[in-house]
Amino acid sequence: MEFSSILYSAFLLSLLSLMVKYVVLMVMSLFAHSINPLKLNNYKDDIILLPLILLGYSVLLLVIELANPAEGGIYSFLLILFGASIVPIVRFTGEPIITLFRSRINKNHQNEIVKKKIQERFQENYHIYVIDKKIMNAYATGILPFTKIILIGEYFLENLKPEIIDAILTHEIAHLKYNHLLKLMLTNILWISITIFSFSIIRNLVDSSNLFAVFLMGYFGLVGGGGLLFVNGLVQKRLEKQADLFAVKKNGKAAVKEMLLKLNELSNDQMTKWSFNYPTLNERLENISRADSH
Ligand SMILES: [Zn+2]
Repeated sequence: MEFSSILYSAFLLSLLSLMVKYVVLMVMSLFAHSINPLKLNNYKDDIILLPLILLGYSVLLLVIELANPAEGGIYSFLLILFGASIVPIVRFTGEPIITLFRSRINKNHQNEIVKKKIQERFQENYHIYVIDKKIMNAYATGILPFTKIILIGEYFLENLKPEIIDAILTHEIAHLKYNHLLKLMLTNILWISITIFSFSIIRNLVDSSNLFAVFLMGYFGLVGGGGLLFVNGLVQKRLEKQADLFAVKKNGKAAVKEMLLKLNELSNDQMTKWSFNYPTLNERLENISRADSH
């Protein structure tokens, strides 16, 4: 394949992967009897990520051209691993920067008080930012130690009980402490490697005629794109439960349950509904009930 045809194929694959994503979201919406999966999708992210997806598919196609696991041995294996790592590394290290860039940080708020409290309790020196009044959410992001940040909505600090704020912060700290973003990044790299590797093996069975392009798109759309979405969801649900259990250890079952019920109330019951990346409220409450501390 020439470079221009690689770029062209990468472009088609990028569009296809977006289409597959929306079809999967629609099927999931039907399955869940709720438009939640579609409604909660971040459409802006899809646009921001498009150049990255294009880069990813270009690299993938190049790797497929060059790697032949059946003959290439360790060289092919390393090439596949390298090709599979580029996009997740760019994406996951860039994510904290994008999050910070997009959040309206409130510099006047008691950042320092919250930060000091966390330093005292957890001996961790994470950056804490208080964000926009209207945002009723908290996030933790960052992979490298100096990029680890927690963002918390001003609404929480002003309207919630201290025990609930504490449980929210502890849950977010768990995400950073247990390197959840790194684990998600490694999941991505592993899944993409498996997709390229298995494709490189299977492609030998397929005629290198017109059928090849269709097979390539179907494989990377379904196994690569759809599969990644599914595997990410499974891993993220587990990590979410782990963060809840860390909060239980520090704050007790009652406080964490109360925190979840409060967040659900603030989100108009959104947490009770099925989602791609989060366990439902009931699953989380049951997970907490099963915990042995307190
Ligand atoms: Zn979480």
